[in-house]
Amino acid sequence: MPSRVFDIAIIGGGVIGLTLARELGGRDARVAVIDAGAAVPQATVAAAGMLAPSFETCAAFGGLAEPLYHLGARSLAMWQDYAPALEEETGIVIDYRRDGTLGLAYRDAQAEDLAKQAALVKNLGGAAEMISGDEARALEPALSNEVVAALHAPEDAQVDPRHVMSALRISLKNRDIEIVPARVLSLGEGAAAGQFACAEGDVFEAQTIVLAAGAVSGLTPMGLVYPVKGEATAIAAEGVVTRVVRAPGAYICPKAGGRVVIGATEELGPLLDHHSVSDAAIAGLRANAARAAPGLSSAQELERWAGLRPGTPDGAPIMGRDKEGRFLALGHYRNGILHAPAAAEAMAALILGETPPFDLAPFDPSRFGPGRFSPAQGG
Ligand SMILES: Cc1cc2nc3c(=O)[nH]c(=O)nc-3n(C[C@H](O)[C@H](O)[C@H](O)COP(=O)(O)OP(=O)(O)OC[C@H]3O[C@@H](n4cnc5c(N)ncnc54)[C@H](O)[C@@H]3O)c2cc1C
Repeated sequence: MPSRVFDIAIIGGGVIGLTLARELGGRDARVAVIDAGAAVPQATVAAAGMLAPSFETCAAFGGLAEPLYHLGARSLAMWQDYAPALEEETGIVIDYRRDGTLGLAYRDAQAEDLAKQAALVKNLGGAAEMISGDEARALEPALSNEVVAALHAPEDAQVDPRHVMSALRISLKNRDIEIVPARVLSLGEGAAAGQFACAEGDVFEAQTIVLAAGAVSGLTPMGLVYPVKGEATAIAAEGVVTRVVRAPGAYICPKAGGRVVIGATEELGPLLDHHSVSDAAIAGLRANAARAAPGLSSAQELERWAGLRPGTPDGAPIMGRDKEGRFLALGHYRNGILHAPAAAEAMAALILGETPPFDLAPFDPSRFGPGRFSPAQGG
């Protein structure tokens, strides 16, 4: 006998699970979130919080470039109302800023790559322009004289993901949505597909199950959602740069109170752990950031950390259903914070039997082959 029965159970309480729960709760659906807490690492709290579709869509995505860009652009636009509404509801300031991104080039070849990126974004309907090194320095006087050109994406924005999570938790409480602390070890199949077993010994049941469990849940088959480790640091450097700067080898994100996030490495491999942060990785990121803005070079380190992004084979998220009828909200890779409001809106519509506001077919799990996407059993 299941120890608890839910209408809708979302497994995973990162930004994707919590924004979806908030959306469903706002539509009077009865929903609970099951989250493992510290037992399974969370990508969301490791994120820099850039909302930057202009830099996160590239020609390498092939046929997925267009739907991915539109997902990101739609969500970026949604953040404009989402952020103040969340702040007003919860009293938590999430440090939303819409002051654009500068992508830097030191050499002509890098400038040519950025110009191709700007052309792609403009073709897809976005705002992106190439500017000279001097024009970039006029926007950000701390930039080095090495900068010869920059891609300016004036509509990009950013938030502080940790504050977003605090606000979302309060918002769920306001809506009587429970976050149940439990680690799901296995999902039922066939007649028992509505059940799932937890490490704490409980078996839960839900009419509707949503998997939003990030990179290392043990609930998705190896190879379809996999961890991509990122190491990052924060330094104290009030006012050196005022907007997000993406330099070769590092990005620089100024946050409230003079905190500046510098990220991030990308590492793939079977032996990834989310704890370790190497001196070499942080030194490399800091050197690359200081090359872009020398005023950052001697700033005091405040913190360093690592996180595991939920990657997928084609770099695009998985939004749809598996063969057991469970809903999948997975694999947002480098852009889960950006995608969250639009992904939540679309997944909520799918779950409630409505027509999603944009076509989810490009993100359907069936693109990986018929029958391939079914959650594995065991932790
Ligand atoms: C260094 C770094 C920088 C990044 N920067 C950005 C950025 O600037 N902009 C951006 O948009 N994105 C960024 N990202 C990516 C972003 O963090 C992710 O795409 C996003 O957080 C994924 O959210 P999620 O909810 O899918 O997964 P997660 O945040 O990982 O949440 C999954 C949750 O599920 C829980 N869970 C897992 N398994 C189980 C289980 N078996 N039972 C119960 N609960 C379980 C976990 O405990 C966790 O709370 C960055 C990521 C990293 C690592």
